[in-house]
Amino acid sequence: MSTNPPTLRPDLAPRARITDTPRPGQPVIGMVSLGCPKALVDSERILTRLRAEGYAISPDYAGADAVIVNTCGFLDSAKAESLEAIGEALAENGRVIVTGCLGAEPDYITGAHPSVLAVTGPHQYEQVLDAVHVAVPPDPHPFIDLLPATGVSLTPRHYSYLKISEGCNHKCKFCIIPDMRGRLVSRPAHAVIREAEKLVEAGVRELLVISQDTSAYGVDIKHAEDRGHRAHITDLARDLGSLGAWVRLHYVYPYPHVRDLIPLMAESHANGGGVLPYLDIPFQHAHPDVLKRMARPAASAKTLDEIAAWRAICPDITLRSTFIVGYPGETEAEFQYLLDWMDEAQLDRIGCFQYENVDGARSNALPDHVPDEVKQDRWDRFMQKAQAISEAKLQAKVGTTCQVIVDSIDGEGATCRTKADAPEIDGNLFIDVGFEALNPGDIVTVEVDEASDYDLWGRLV
Ligand code: SF4
Repeated sequence: MSTNPPTLRPDLAPRARITDTPRPGQPVIGMVSLGCPKALVDSERILTRLRAEGYAISPDYAGADAVIVNTCGFLDSAKAESLEAIGEALAENGRVIVTGCLGAEPDYITGAHPSVLAVTGPHQYEQVLDAVHVAVPPDPHPFIDLLPATGVSLTPRHYSYLKISEGCNHKCKFCIIPDMRGRLVSRPAHAVIREAEKLVEAGVRELLVISQDTSAYGVDIKHAEDRGHRAHITDLARDLGSLGAWVRLHYVYPYPHVRDLIPLMAESHANGGGVLPYLDIPFQHAHPDVLKRMARPAASAKTLDEIAAWRAICPDITLRSTFIVGYPGETEAEFQYLLDWMDEAQLDRIGCFQYENVDGARSNALPDHVPDEVKQDRWDRFMQKAQAISEAKLQAKVGTTCQVIVDSIDGEGATCRTKADAPEIDGNLFIDVGFEALNPGDIVTVEVDEASDYDLWGRLV
């Protein structure tokens, strides 16, 4: 089995950062959150409820009365990591409740770790809570355990993930998410907007819109309008953009109607509105035959023409994408086509991972699997090109002025991001002079004075 190191895995999200000081006698639950931003949102929901019920939350095993491990089952390497995390939690704490994507395969978990207290699947919030209640009865204190207005956030306070739907109606052959998470279920637009309003009121300056398929938002509920908000991605983006925070769209598939989002981004960028000129659009490959073998949505779209059309409308747009190299049957000619496509597409941000078999994925049965050393070679060549494109693009920013959001400060300087950088997956802009008065969440203007392969440096103007 070939596995991708964590840095190559597009499904990984930041680990839980949460600290609580328990009062004497208060039941404490530890949480280990693995997997993608969507799983992180699930962890946030579970913790929100537990906090509301009077539990204290611990970021690790020490002192916890039980530990919840929220697992990922996206790739075999993610499954292995989940099993390892469960084993570690059992060794360190002994009382472990498993939830998340891998929880859809309880036998797989109990086969390896028969002593777990309970296994629940993705989005089974009530079952997780029931399991916690059995393992560690709640002891609420009505005057102390007030739920914070926005729930418990595992991400830094100035940005937050906003999940708009669950599941996916596609059947990409390398992916088992539709089997694990089911078909698309969109949240009503007014509920998404209300959650976003609460987050912004609580100080969130950047909303990261996530789902399995953001462009398909609302298809299942026929784009219904409810309480003044229509469940369509263009309307939702416009509504979110009016709240005063940056709005970043992730996992947008290149359907034709995506073109309607671009004028909104251009207009927002020009007038200081919230919808960022940033599209995270997982192309996965460029060759039409590979895309067909992957059974990708919009496989036949003329993506280079689409990209040119987007840039004509919004020249400052940042395009991020992920790719798979070494997909079964990928020939050298098909891979070379992808490299040539990259030369033309000039994408700003790239993630790439080597194909892996995932238990239950239909692509496992395809003929002509690519040997590991060929995958590695293609990955190296692909990343070399991506790096050269990134370096040239960042060099071109030297001397320009842009807005950045401050993520953190230490003795050395401020770590920030431009509108072109999503947290955790893209680059940074560093300010190392005159940063002392800045605070996380501040949005300031800088002049870029230096660039490396993936990061920028700048000074306040
Ligand atoms: S669009 Fe494809 S890769 Fe994405 S979740 Fe759906 S099936 Fe998986």
